[in-house]
Amino acid sequence: MATTEINLRPADFKGKSNPDWCPGCGDFGVLNAIQRAVAELGFRPHEIMTVSGIGCSSNLPGYINTYGMHTLHGRSLAMATGVKMANHEMNVIVTGGDGDGYGIGGNHFTHTARRNTDLTYIVMNNQIYGLTTGQVSPTSSLGMTTKSTPFGNVEQPINPLTSAIMNGATYVARAYSGDVRHLSELIQKGIQHKGFSIIDCFSPCVTFNLTNTHDFFKERVKKLEDEEHDTSNWERACEKAMVFGDTIYTGVFFESDRAALEDVEPVLKEGGPLSRRELGLAKDEAQKIIDRMM
Ligand code: SF4
Repeated sequence: MATTEINLRPADFKGKSNPDWCPGCGDFGVLNAIQRAVAELGFRPHEIMTVSGIGCSSNLPGYINTYGMHTLHGRSLAMATGVKMANHEMNVIVTGGDGDGYGIGGNHFTHTARRNTDLTYIVMNNQIYGLTTGQVSPTSSLGMTTKSTPFGNVEQPINPLTSAIMNGATYVARAYSGDVRHLSELIQKGIQHKGFSIIDCFSPCVTFNLTNTHDFFKERVKKLEDEEHDTSNWERACEKAMVFGDTIYTGVFFESDRAALEDVEPVLKEGGPLSRRELGLAKDEAQKIIDRMM
């Protein structure tokens, strides 16, 4: 966790490049919330690795001042698992969109949940493929007209929250990117949680999804904190997660203290992070491997 005595500000986590997102894109709120969360938790940039896949939202590691990896489409969770296994003392945040994470990377989403790897996964869910200019995604609503569904979407959308809960994720939350303070609080809790944390965040694509807009969410979102909700009850959590109409719940749906992967992996029990251990190879042999990989 954080080690600094120096109080950094969210602005200290601003990356070298400015976002190239469309004006009004929900992803600005998510970037802002992550920067606020890591500053308030007292982190320094080198204590965090941000990993992403491909898509508008997956450009995020370029806009934040931490270690970062912009990886392959749908493979962010697999890469992040590798990072965590190599250095389990690193705080790993994974960012991306619904197409990247629930479509192309759906397999990794399921297996990361069951492994309960200690990652904080923030999905900017805009219910459409934005970067490729507006095709139907795994979370697009039934009947939604897009470039690739001119007669309306006929496929049932995935519910990422029930899927995460049923597959073993141990911190499952939902947010709306227009409420940066609430989102930032949920991210902070996710980072502090030991195990796989998923924060599905409605982050409107103002250019290609003219159905699920900022106004759409502002009229509907209701915080679970404002009513009695038992986050240890997975059945109640799934019921709340399936409500998607005039009311859409945000907040923490489910939490459990099931052990994280790195706490049960025998190789990691003693000796510190793998990345700081001796390789057990002669120096020239190790250099040959590094040269081959670079
Ligand atoms: Fe955001 Fe949509 Fe523009 Fe992509 S296309 S930057 S998701 S508003």
